[in-house]
Amino acid sequence: MNLIQLFDLSLKGRRDEVALEFSGGSFTFGEIDDRSNRMAALFQQRGLEKGDRLCVYLSNCVELIDIYLACAKLGVIFVPINILYREREILHILADSGPKAVITAQEMPGTVPVWPIAGLITPPAAERPDVALNGDSPAALVYTSGTTGASKGAILTHNNFAVNAINLNACWDITKTDRFLLALPLFHVHALGNGLHCWLISGCRMRLLERFEHQKAAAEFLDYRPTLFFGVPTVYVRLLDFPADIAGQVGRFMRLFVSGSAPLPPQVFEEFHAKFGHTILERYGMTETLMNISNPYVGDRRPGTVGLPLPGISARIVDGELQLRGPNVCAGYWRREEATKAAFEDGWFKTGDVAECSADGYYTLLGRKSDLIISGGFNIYPREIEEFLLEQEEVAEAAVVGVPDQLRGEIPVAYIVPRAAIDAATLDLRCRAKLASFKVPRDFLAVDKLPRTALGKIQKHLLPPWTK
Ligand code: ATP
Ligand code: MG
Repeated sequence: MNLIQLFDLSLKGRRDEVALEFSGGSFTFGEIDDRSNRMAALFQQRGLEKGDRLCVYLSNCVELIDIYLACAKLGVIFVPINILYREREILHILADSGPKAVITAQEMPGTVPVWPIAGLITPPAAERPDVALNGDSPAALVYTSGTTGASKGAILTHNNFAVNAINLNACWDITKTDRFLLALPLFHVHALGNGLHCWLISGCRMRLLERFEHQKAAAEFLDYRPTLFFGVPTVYVRLLDFPADIAGQVGRFMRLFVSGSAPLPPQVFEEFHAKFGHTILERYGMTETLMNISNPYVGDRRPGTVGLPLPGISARIVDGELQLRGPNVCAGYWRREEATKAAFEDGWFKTGDVAECSADGYYTLLGRKSDLIISGGFNIYPREIEEFLLEQEEVAEAAVVGVPDQLRGEIPVAYIVPRAAIDAATLDLRCRAKLASFKVPRDFLAVDKLPRTALGKIQKHLLPPWTK
């Protein structure tokens, strides 16, 4: 079954019900279906065919949904580009994916034909295109976030997206009665894979925001009264700024807050619970596999863990690294045979994340394999030290990395965005009291900010070099 056949289930008998709200306008399920038929007709006129790639460089808008669905109906491979990317990153994706065109509202570098979004004038009506597609047809080529280096294009099929959203709808009890508030960017799998597909497969009502705006968030929550919200940890940190009475009100109509894409600090989890009366459900996923492991909707949501493997997904730990197998795993990296081969071991996908599993099956991520510091033969997981540093009053943000050392191979150093002046000797003493000596950072550097991806992940390879 392809995605469109699956979406038809949410359309059944409900074409006149409101599906989407965006920027003051609203659209029924029938209108969403018709709009993408018209977009598909336009794409056919412009010569797009099954298997072609189409890049989009747009912030959240209804047309972006029309384009995605038109691609799904035509078998055209949708290639979203992060809207914060600039010339070098855009050129990388354009060159790598080889698209027929790129749709945007802005100037574009490179030689790929540009289709300005304002020039996409669709015919007044169109039938749904008749293109044979099955579950293994590629639906999108999504580039990894580039947290650890150059981003790679993961080939995600109709089956990958279908299985992912069916799992999440079942495991998080998402139904057509939900009111879903989505403020994450559709160029990333968090909003595209989870947000858009959970919406269309459950048939719930969704309000899409162009972006998450911290100053407007409280008003948006009170106006829409959602039951369901997906966020990244930095968004939850922002929500903690809501005045107590508003947080209480929001907590009463909300059903479920989900967090993912980066580790949710346990303090945020606790503070959020105290303020909103909700236990955030943390889950783990990646571009190449969509969602893998999730805390349970019914049962114990444990802070600091990512929970249990989702249905149909097997997990194992080999030499500390988490490996996965299941219908969610992508078909490989676009035109990168070597990288694809290197990413699998006996059919298991190597996540690059270091994890441990409790006796009752809960997984905890310890950090990236590439971030692991080996000092004098001891393994150091930066995340443990970072979490300890974040508990210190004067520390707003922290990143710990390994730097070369003649004697020990590597030693940890800490980069800190201070809340108040930091004193290296004091921090050193506090670390020594609580951490094994080999884990204590050899230096504490104050920086103005940490380099982060669009979704707030720390890009450790872009930190300023450490010299002493
Ligand atoms: P690149 O692969 O290009 O270096 P990336 O791995 O950050 O970038 P994504 O696919 O967007 O690109 O992110 C997946 C990664 O995000 C996971 O491998 C994991 O390290 C991290 N991640 C996702 N969810 C969580 C979570 N709940 N807790 C901790 N880390 C998470
Ligand atoms: Mg990755």
